[in-house]
Amino acid sequence: MENIVIIGNGIAGVSAARHIRKLSDKRIIIISGETDYFFSRTALMYVYMGHMKFDHIQPYENWFWEKNRIELVRGYVTQVDPKEKQLLVDGSRAINYDKLIIATGSKPNKFGWPGQDLHGAQGLYSKQDLDLLEVNAPNKEVCKRAVIVGGGLIGIELAEMLRSRDIPVTFLVREDSFWNGVLPSGESQLINEHILEHHIDLRLGTNLKEIVADENGKVKSVIIAETGEELPCNMVGLTAGVTPNVDFLKGSGIELGRGVKVNRFLETNVEDIYAIGDCAEQHEAIGNRRPIEAVWYTGRMMGETVAQTICGNQLEYKPGHWFNSAKFLDIEYQTYGWVFSERGMKDYEEHFHWRHPEEKVCITIAFNKENNQFLGINTFGIRMRHEIFDRWLNQEKDVDYVMEHLIDANFDPEFYKNYETEIVSKYNADFQKSIKTKKKSLKRIFQIN
Ligand SMILES: Cc1cc2nc3c(=O)[nH]c(=O)nc-3n(C[C@H](O)[C@H](O)[C@H](O)COP(=O)(O)OP(=O)(O)OC[C@H]3O[C@@H](n4cnc5c(N)ncnc54)[C@H](O)[C@@H]3O)c2cc1C
Repeated sequence: MENIVIIGNGIAGVSAARHIRKLSDKRIIIISGETDYFFSRTALMYVYMGHMKFDHIQPYENWFWEKNRIELVRGYVTQVDPKEKQLLVDGSRAINYDKLIIATGSKPNKFGWPGQDLHGAQGLYSKQDLDLLEVNAPNKEVCKRAVIVGGGLIGIELAEMLRSRDIPVTFLVREDSFWNGVLPSGESQLINEHILEHHIDLRLGTNLKEIVADENGKVKSVIIAETGEELPCNMVGLTAGVTPNVDFLKGSGIELGRGVKVNRFLETNVEDIYAIGDCAEQHEAIGNRRPIEAVWYTGRMMGETVAQTICGNQLEYKPGHWFNSAKFLDIEYQTYGWVFSERGMKDYEEHFHWRHPEEKVCITIAFNKENNQFLGINTFGIRMRHEIFDRWLNQEKDVDYVMEHLIDANFDPEFYKNYETEIVSKYNADFQKSIKTKKKSLKRIFQIN
């Protein structure tokens, strides 16, 4: 029986295992060093905030694995030997494979800051990081102030987590507006305001110079690069992005860039070895996508795709239209298609932006100024239907059509306020149009694509 070994029990590795099992009778072994069972990394924050217990973020019951004949091995793979088709777990236990899937995820970036490895300085990625956070910042008496370094999605989650225990937070963000490498300026500005309103001491255009230790080697303060200011604190959260977790593969003969290099079939340069999820790096980007995509649903799709190939139905990884969702404190954010920030904007791209005068609700729609084709939408505080935008992007609808039918895409519950009338009237004013909004149509919404 063919022996499939998967390194990593995150969403990518587990999706691959589940789909291989659906398609075949092969022997499946998952090796992972972090936890015994798969858990939802995106929900880690809710455990610290007391909304859930750790068990609740494990999507499968513990009996699921044995019932589905998926063998679980706890340990870190320290070496892969492609010639012998063998790997070593924790430096000693040898396991053979016929096909190997590398799904080892990411690790938090550390940029060589002095003091970055002190007690009290940590990232937020793993279950171990969550446990460490309970030690470093259990409450505001032990942690009188936390400093977070790096203004991305994980940074703002960590800020929200710490604030849920009333711990004062200073948030150092290198950019002059929050996440403005990704978000257009109107949205980035809205998030700046929202962070400040949540009593988080947001310092824009600010870099960490050094983390200073007390006499016991524990974090005592940080020094700001621009001003030399020393900020007393007990915990430093390092959330300046993530990097593929692939160091253990150096010297194995498997081609590495920043991640494990793969082709469109998620195959590495070595026969019978594949890589998926956060740790995989496409040789060439697919359309506007990044060669490495550290997001949940990319891992899931890659896992499903590689399972097909391994079971004999060679399948290319075709991710379809970009979408993602996240939360900025209590504001829900969704993105479909491509809406670039001013920094990354294409020369054919034009934006329409609407923001509610009082509430933290806004949208930005990107379109091609040459032919009016709809390119993408970002929404804050309005929930939209994924399948509608997928359809409109596939059908290459123009922006006027999208404005006319915007209500069809709205996915907020019935009793929520609708903003389509205000949005369309601003669009008409901005672009000298006279679009009228259509009534919501269930027939249109549920039509077969
Ligand atoms: C706090 C947080 C919030 C997030 N929120 C979102 C979100 O809202 N939306 C979104 O799309 N994405 C989010 N992400 C990103 C998302 O969680 C990741 O993209 C996804 O989990 C990656 O899945 P993966 O299976 O590729 O890797 P991982 O989930 O990292 O799993 C890899 C596993 O392999 C193990 N491993 C690594 N090396 C070895 C080795 N040598 N031997 C054995 N085991 C090894 C690791 O310990 C880990 O358990 C978030 C991430 C974090 C940290």
